[in-house]
Amino acid sequence: MAYIVEYIWIDGTKPTAKLRSKAQVFADGKEPGIWGFDGSSTNQATGDQSDVVLNPVFVVPDPIRGGKNKLAMCETLLTDMTPHPTNTRARCAASAKKYEKLDTWFGLEQEYTFFEGIAPLGWPDNGFPAPQGGYYCGVGSDEIFGREVVNAHLQACIDAGLHISGINAEVMPGQWEFQIGPVAAPRVADELWLARWMLYRIAEDFLGPKGIPISATLRPKPVPGDWNGAGCHTNFSTTQMRETIDACVAAAEALGAGNKPAVHIAGYGAGIEQRLTGAHETQRYDQFSYGVSDRGASIRIPWQVDKAGKGYIEDRRPNANCDPYVVTGLIIDTVCSAASK
Ligand code: ADP
Ligand code: MN
Ligand code: MN
Ligand code: MN
Repeated sequence: MAYIVEYIWIDGTKPTAKLRSKAQVFADGKEPGIWGFDGSSTNQATGDQSDVVLNPVFVVPDPIRGGKNKLAMCETLLTDMTPHPTNTRARCAASAKKYEKLDTWFGLEQEYTFFEGIAPLGWPDNGFPAPQGGYYCGVGSDEIFGREVVNAHLQACIDAGLHISGINAEVMPGQWEFQIGPVAAPRVADELWLARWMLYRIAEDFLGPKGIPISATLRPKPVPGDWNGAGCHTNFSTTQMRETIDACVAAAEALGAGNKPAVHIAGYGAGIEQRLTGAHETQRYDQFSYGVSDRGASIRIPWQVDKAGKGYIEDRRPNANCDPYVVTGLIIDTVCSAASK
């Protein structure tokens, strides 16, 4: 019997790229391979030279269609088979290869916000719900909005074989988080992009209380004012960091050296200044600090790591709408080049 492969890729939309997908039917026994699309419709080519190549880099069972169907996360190539200018995966993979001896692992905490129409899910169209306080890891229909989508997505990630490690309701109502990892780059970012696609796709099938289909967004500051933004905290460790706390502190120092804070902020997602204000468990975008258990710092050393004398650290700066290929690539370049000196 024929089966379906959904080819998924990242487009060229600026300043924040979007996910795109289309499906191809394969005869039984045929494996998915190179394909292509019209790049003039995705900000990736001009109309006269419109072909962009899709190269599947991560193929998993499709938990949404089920059966023998598959999802294929792809990178984009030019027709000469070199990376497309919008292909950030190729650079990430090169950095990971260069420092493969340090075996960097990442755990990505993807925060996101459900919307129904113009307002976050569970919010009135005009005005605001009760202020933040009871929603984080809450329970009950007065505090929790969208749990059925979250659970369907969690199960889909498990069925697709992703390294999803958990979910939780977040500080703002309608806001949630899932975590992927620990896994090495670029695979961890392949998994995160695929998990994002499944989140958007699965939410299509659910209606909110107003009867409008639910949508998920990675906007970093979905509601202005006294409401938490959405981030993508990036936990990471090298072989050395998993052995000594000194290596964890050295990694935090490397991230704070010279122009590194500015270079990282520039690659951590559009609109980061709106989210990293110094309030709502963030450090300001134009300041750098690190500390044990400090959720107001750029980098947090978890208390368990301080106690164990080894482990990993958390970069709290990346936005929810970041490109995890860029974020993990930057961290590898900065931390591993300093550790290799
Ligand atoms: P928080 O307390 O900040 O909410 P979470 O539990 O949401 O933390 O996320 C922590 C993440 O750190 C998880 O994705 C986990 O897999 C990851 N992690 C744990 N150990 C390591 C490690 N040694 N290296 C990299 N990531 C790790
Ligand atoms: Mn978390
Ligand atoms: Mn969180
Ligand atoms: Mn965190």
